[in-house]
Amino acid sequence: MSTPLTPVRTRIAPSPTGDPHVGTAYIALFNWAFARHHGGQFILRLEDTDQSRSTESSERLILESLRWLGLDWDEGPDCGGAHAPYRQSDRLAVYRTHVDQLVADGHAFPCFCTAERLDAMRAEQRARGETTRYDGHCLDLPASEVRARIEANESHVIRMRVPEQGVCRFNDLLRGDIEIPYSQIDMQVLLKADGFPTYHLAVVVDDHLMGISHVMRGEEWINSVPKHALLYQYFGWDMPLHAHLPLLRNQDQSKLSKRKNPTSINYYRDIGILPEALVNYLGLMGWSMPDEREIFSPLELAEAIDLQRISLGGPIFDLEKLSWLNGQYLRALTPDQFADRLKQWMLNDTRLGALIPLVQERTEKLADLAPQVSYLLGERAPLASEAFDGFKVDREQCVLILDHTLRAFDALPSWERQALFDCCQAVAAYLDIKFRDYMQPLFLAVSGKQVSLPLFDSMVFLGSDVTRMRLRDALGVIGVSKKMAKRLEKNYAAFSVTQAT
Ligand code: GLU
Repeated sequence: MSTPLTPVRTRIAPSPTGDPHVGTAYIALFNWAFARHHGGQFILRLEDTDQSRSTESSERLILESLRWLGLDWDEGPDCGGAHAPYRQSDRLAVYRTHVDQLVADGHAFPCFCTAERLDAMRAEQRARGETTRYDGHCLDLPASEVRARIEANESHVIRMRVPEQGVCRFNDLLRGDIEIPYSQIDMQVLLKADGFPTYHLAVVVDDHLMGISHVMRGEEWINSVPKHALLYQYFGWDMPLHAHLPLLRNQDQSKLSKRKNPTSINYYRDIGILPEALVNYLGLMGWSMPDEREIFSPLELAEAIDLQRISLGGPIFDLEKLSWLNGQYLRALTPDQFADRLKQWMLNDTRLGALIPLVQERTEKLADLAPQVSYLLGERAPLASEAFDGFKVDREQCVLILDHTLRAFDALPSWERQALFDCCQAVAAYLDIKFRDYMQPLFLAVSGKQVSLPLFDSMVFLGSDVTRMRLRDALGVIGVSKKMAKRLEKNYAAFSVTQAT
């Protein structure tokens, strides 16, 4: 592959809004490999502009999991660099200066429309069968009015101007020339009323200021390029090269989602997938080595990487294939190395120590240990749908319990015993089900048994990812109809409102 002229600088720009996602690691891997191939730099930037969803724990877990996979970065929030800070919430003044410049140049404008007005506008557009987009209400307000309203502290956002006609043409390194008419592009909000930038403003400003040469990201961002291209043009900057990588898919070709596949990197770590196997597997997503070998390290990928070899058909994230690959890695270890891995994973004093208080009271012979902890150290037995019959609660209530508990767990900031207990009590109270009855389907979903070690301790031991995966699997086993899914959504929304207040 020929060396690009500019210094190669790539980046991964995760939003710290949830579990560390395998899709983030996949995009990071290709950016990392591309930078390493060209002797360039790989940067980690945190896009935490959505303050209501960003959390410190998500930030920490994302960094930890990328490190666990062996993907190191040259600049980032933890290690600094010439373009610090690398956390967008620490760069608000930078965005403000840039947005002010856009407004002064007439490329952006303050918009005072209220949420009610925008909702009504969208409803009308929808009723007319149109795509919903901002109608330009505040586009040409007289300068004196704008000044007066701003001076009166009227809440407003800043939106970008978008040409009414014409087409945005850009080149994607993987997909060739792409054309998107401006008529499809909304007058995007660039700065929110709270002074935070939106993704579109922050990504352009940061990619430019951080000297990013190649933006390699998921294909879901292709339709955002016209907004970004316009911003580059408005600022008078060269646009970096773009490559939109194919999205990871579930078996049924839909976008990889946690409802159909575990997506958290920590889930794979907790079930004993080796980091080198997971990162190798991610390297097989959309990519094949020139000699077609399937086992390779990130460095070998970096040596061989050639964007022309990336295939655009949606790569399927296949757990069986990942397990097969992990088996290859495990079997290639020496017995000592294998023993070390087992120790690192579970057979260490800390992990086993956590089991002692649970089992000691319930043990008559030491050999009782293994059957008692089988669902904690290994996979839980597959569930049969009938196993959920015969509880005090009926099947529909089982679904409500599992679904609402799962959603509540998804939103839980800390995975500690008391927090889990309080959360479950709140769900049970909301569903108006006696706590003992509420617990029965949870016991089964988590342990695969009617009787197990104490549930809350078990969940703490298993960790958030494996526990939630088991609840999700149990829901799949019982089966949730589309109609029920809607009801669950609505019913839970009412619960989360009560929780928030
Ligand atoms: N923060 C965006 C994300 O979470 C980054 C998109 C990009 O790479 O431009 O996917």
